[in-house]
Amino acid sequence: MKNVVESVVSRARTPFVNQPFTDFSKEENRQAQMRALEQVKSELGRTYPLIIGGKKITNEATFASFNPSNPEQVIGYFSRATVQQANEAVQAAAQAFESWKRVPAEERAGYLFAAADLLSTRRFLMNAWMIYEVGKSWPEADGDTAEAIDFMEYYAREMMRLADDQPIVRIAEEDNKLVYIPLGVGAVIPPWNFPCAITAGMTSAAFVTGNTVVLKPASTAPAIAAQFVNILEEVGLPAGVVNFLTGSGSTIGDTLVENPQLRFIAFTGSRDVGLRINELAAKHQPGQRWLKRTILEMGGKDAVVVDETANLEAAASAIVTSAFGFQGQKCSAGSRAIIVDKVYDQVLQRVIEKTKQLSLGDVTQPSTHMGPVVDENAMKKITEYIEIGKGEGKLVTGGGHHGPGYFIEPTVIADVEPHARISQEEIFGPVLTVIKARDFDDALHIANDTEYGLTGSLYSNNPERIERAKEEYHVGNLYFNRKSTGALVGVHPFGGFNMSGTDSKAGGRDYLLLFTQAKAISTTK
Ligand code: NDP
Repeated sequence: MKNVVESVVSRARTPFVNQPFTDFSKEENRQAQMRALEQVKSELGRTYPLIIGGKKITNEATFASFNPSNPEQVIGYFSRATVQQANEAVQAAAQAFESWKRVPAEERAGYLFAAADLLSTRRFLMNAWMIYEVGKSWPEADGDTAEAIDFMEYYAREMMRLADDQPIVRIAEEDNKLVYIPLGVGAVIPPWNFPCAITAGMTSAAFVTGNTVVLKPASTAPAIAAQFVNILEEVGLPAGVVNFLTGSGSTIGDTLVENPQLRFIAFTGSRDVGLRINELAAKHQPGQRWLKRTILEMGGKDAVVVDETANLEAAASAIVTSAFGFQGQKCSAGSRAIIVDKVYDQVLQRVIEKTKQLSLGDVTQPSTHMGPVVDENAMKKITEYIEIGKGEGKLVTGGGHHGPGYFIEPTVIADVEPHARISQEEIFGPVLTVIKARDFDDALHIANDTEYGLTGSLYSNNPERIERAKEEYHVGNLYFNRKSTGALVGVHPFGGFNMSGTDSKAGGRDYLLLFTQAKAISTTK
């Protein structure tokens, strides 16, 4: 054990560096990804158990996850957890907490380093699971896996920093110290759109700080979460520290959140589910001894603003990348382009041309830019919004959808009013709303005029406007002359304002504190 601890301590002292993205222009990487796709294809259709207190339980009632590119292809079958099993999972986590909270920080961090190493060796395989289960393109899948590794590397180091002596004022007559202790049992509820990174990020932050967890993955991406849970098992994480509970959020979500033994909920997902969790968690339950903490990251209606001083070509490229990366299914997607009158026609024209160059189709091929949206419900909802959009603005490209998978063309709707529904509501698909602003002041006002506040980007070469936007553009992640997506762990701590959530700043120095409580200990000399 001494050797393990020493190696964790010395690794934690090495500076954190982001994982480089895989260069798929290299033949060896393309071959490796192709082989991984073949291997994962041969593993599709398996049945996965619940894991409660280390016990694997397969229920008779199961549900399947499907390949959105080819909905007849089953990715895997998963047990539909019952309400009773949800409570048992919390109980198992509560039991494991009694020993896990005493495990030294360096040992807990050691599990994260080991999991990061194992995931690195399985990078192409994890990419392949995402290509099949949620329709990511190669670079999008690879970015997701890279981010998951980054989260584990970063939080392991952060845990060591928090476990160190904390700077407090010293006085002569007492010995004082401040320590960060865990909260208890948490529910971790991730979305399907970053099914590896967000699942790994929220789960690892929760357990590296000494908490135990019930992980309930999104029902459209449970196989990806299962690969991550397998990795935790393989590196020897003790039973009960992370319990794996598959099933519909609408059936077992409330039970989990209301359980009086639960101390916190780490959720990333839609506004409406986030609000419900917030409300239920606030209600005191019989036997509950604490206020439940909620860490809630929700939706966005993010904007890319362009003024007349900007590099218009770069702005048009960023608008297209921000709007259509992973089919627009990112909380950070630039779903609104707000362009000042003077350059509106010019930028719009280039956006249309660049959008038409995007390839939509088979994501098992490296050159495909865009794949399907995640499921039939998403396709229905997005196509309804396109119909609404046709009445609220002018459809200038896209608008169609075709099967057998859930493919929706990258769609641009121009000349839309700032308060139109497609300017205000999160569509979460490949639909870009283009809004004309009178001038920069008007553009900034429009950008802020939604209930969300997650990411935002401004293309401008005017230093005064940039300074103003630093103060007035009210978003958690503000970017200048850069796309609105692609936050890097450690570099761009991530989280939003207003209805975008509790601004938890995942991948930043403040994040792990959300999973701890500080205890001040004073001893008279
Ligand atoms: P949902 O809110 O539909 O689902 C998120 C998770 O919540 C899933 O695991 C879901 O399970 C679960 N859930 C559903 N109902 C309940 C309930 N009543 N109680 C507890 N849990 C429940 O979001 P999506 O998965 O569709 O993800 C997309 C959303 O996530 C978008 O709004 C996007 O903007 C947001 N997001 C925000 C990010 C941020 O950092 N701010 C980052 C990434 C995404 P099940 O699948 O079984 O329904």
